[in-house]
Amino acid sequence: MPDTTANGEIEAWLDRFTRAANAGDPDAVASLFVPGECLWRDLVAVSWNIVTCEGQAAIADMARARLDDVRPFAASREADAKSADGIVEARIRIETRLARGDGYLRLKDGKAWTLLTRATELKGHEEPSGRRRPRGALHGVHRDRKTWAELRRQEEEELGISRQPYCVIVGGGQGGIALGARLKRLGVPTLILEKLERPGDTWRKRYKSLCLHDPVWYDHLPYIPFPDHWPVFSPKDKLGDWLEMYVKVMELDYWGGTTCERASYDAARGEWTVTALRGGKTITLKPKQLVLATGMSGVPNVPAFPGRETFAGEQMHSSGFTSGDHYVGKRCVVVGSNNSAHDIAADLWEHGADVAMIQRSPTIVVRSDSLMELAIGQNYSEDALDRGITTEIADLTMASVPYRIAPQRSLPVYDQIRARDRDLYERLDKVGFQYHFGADGSGIHTSYIRRGSGYYIDVGASDLIADGKIALKSRVEVERLTRTGLRLSDGSEVPADLIVYATGFGSMNGWAAQLISREVADKVGKCWGVGSDTAGDPGPWEGELRNMWKPTRQEGLWFHGGNLFQSRVYSLTLALQLKARFEGVPTPVYGLPVVHHTG
Ligand SMILES: Cc1cc2nc3c(=O)[nH]c(=O)nc-3n(C[C@H](O)[C@H](O)[C@H](O)COP(=O)(O)OP(=O)(O)OC[C@H]3O[C@@H](n4cnc5c(N)ncnc54)[C@H](O)[C@@H]3O)c2cc1C
Repeated sequence: MPDTTANGEIEAWLDRFTRAANAGDPDAVASLFVPGECLWRDLVAVSWNIVTCEGQAAIADMARARLDDVRPFAASREADAKSADGIVEARIRIETRLARGDGYLRLKDGKAWTLLTRATELKGHEEPSGRRRPRGALHGVHRDRKTWAELRRQEEEELGISRQPYCVIVGGGQGGIALGARLKRLGVPTLILEKLERPGDTWRKRYKSLCLHDPVWYDHLPYIPFPDHWPVFSPKDKLGDWLEMYVKVMELDYWGGTTCERASYDAARGEWTVTALRGGKTITLKPKQLVLATGMSGVPNVPAFPGRETFAGEQMHSSGFTSGDHYVGKRCVVVGSNNSAHDIAADLWEHGADVAMIQRSPTIVVRSDSLMELAIGQNYSEDALDRGITTEIADLTMASVPYRIAPQRSLPVYDQIRARDRDLYERLDKVGFQYHFGADGSGIHTSYIRRGSGYYIDVGASDLIADGKIALKSRVEVERLTRTGLRLSDGSEVPADLIVYATGFGSMNGWAAQLISREVADKVGKCWGVGSDTAGDPGPWEGELRNMWKPTRQEGLWFHGGNLFQSRVYSLTLALQLKARFEGVPTPVYGLPVVHHTG
């Protein structure tokens, strides 16, 4: 039964908001929000940026700067409102002079606590979907008619050779592919450069035992969802094949086996010069926009331990590890205690290696089943689908929670997880494994947003550690390598034939340093993290992920990446920004952040 009172509250608020916005009255807009904690998150609809304005003053500032440009503004309730614990909330639809979109509103005592506004299409530049789909066949009789296959081949032969792409995406992993698909649909000429041969190779080249840690409902690519018999946790090679199929049927202009070597920007011409090596030949491209979709897990962090050159065994970063089958009966040491460290340690153990893990600082450990049942599965699962929560609704709900309040919403979930898996945590305690639930107890999702790591989604390795099958050295630093192993800060020595550094990856602006220049990398600053002032995410508070999917301090340079959920959701936001520029729609950016950290 619809809650008519809740529906009425949402409608009344939207009506007041629309009138204040259309009157160009920023103070009236701000007064509709809760005094104290209130947040307006905007994905490109108002700001041409991804911003969260916190507090009435910041909300009034954005309204003052931007409303004149985007009005007339309209908003309506999209779905029945829900009311619980003093909060009335509903999905909404919005429209501005330039865009249509959606959003989400949460009210406390009739005032807005959180508001999300998100552009989903630009007026006059809609995707050719549904009723706008192309006919495909050209009925009638036409001399010199070209078939679809001939036209497709012509496009492939021309783009990047005799016709310049408007946009070049460096990196054809799932991020580059999802963005490429959005841009193709929007008619923005785009070339994807990928150094590996085939789409999906990034996943194929990861360690053999890897399956996605996130469930299938969370992982769909834009436009083509996985079929409903697809396994809950995709094996990595299967995902690779899906990506390869996707590139083909979405007709992406994808140059595999092509390494981007350099890029430089000519500010006067508003153009990049991108050099790439393709089939042994250097090719120069001149796009207006350059997207680095080179991966968060791309620039390996390898610790510079003294004595590395003296170690007689094998050493590799986790990104170089493929399988434990070469290490049967060998002594293997994994440095690090997050996801890759656990997966690799378990893989080595399964192959009969003698495995030790070195843990320096605490790890968030949560059993995969518990995470599914108590956290992610609430929005992404068959049960959620049964409750009418489609991927689109789940995505919007996730996007509607500003990063400022996300941690506090997770706390009760982790209380439940702690209670449910008490036995595991007690066993981990006994062997000295340091676990926690994040700096403030808010768990995995927050840690991912803050630093892109710091956790293990347990699919079995925790039991191996708790049972002593994977030996553990915890609360220690590696002091140096010796010829035969590792000397630790507690004075002990761990013998090793293989050392795997599961020590993570650097910030994505490291890619800008490699491909463009250190100066540009420093100019745009660190990528990822929200300024939570916790480990790996220094303050001050920024409220949105640094540099991801939004304008950077370097004109024409963009960063895209993250997990499959983020690739799906934010590829749309980024694609609309690129489309607007392609079409010459003015895009005055509100709230370009100050750079506080260079990497
Ligand atoms: C072990 C492991 C497990 C993971 N599990 C999950 C999971 O379960 N779910 C999930 O969503 N995510 C998972 N991730 C995170 C995963 O890295 C990302 O989701 C995904 O790979 C990001 O996609 P991407 O396209 O942004 O980057 P990548 O997949 O890293 O793709 C970047 C691409 O850029 C290419 N490239 C780099 N430099 C150049 C150049 N100069 N020229 C041309 N091409 C270049 C690379 O070859 C690569 O193909 C996992 C990561 C790791 C390492």
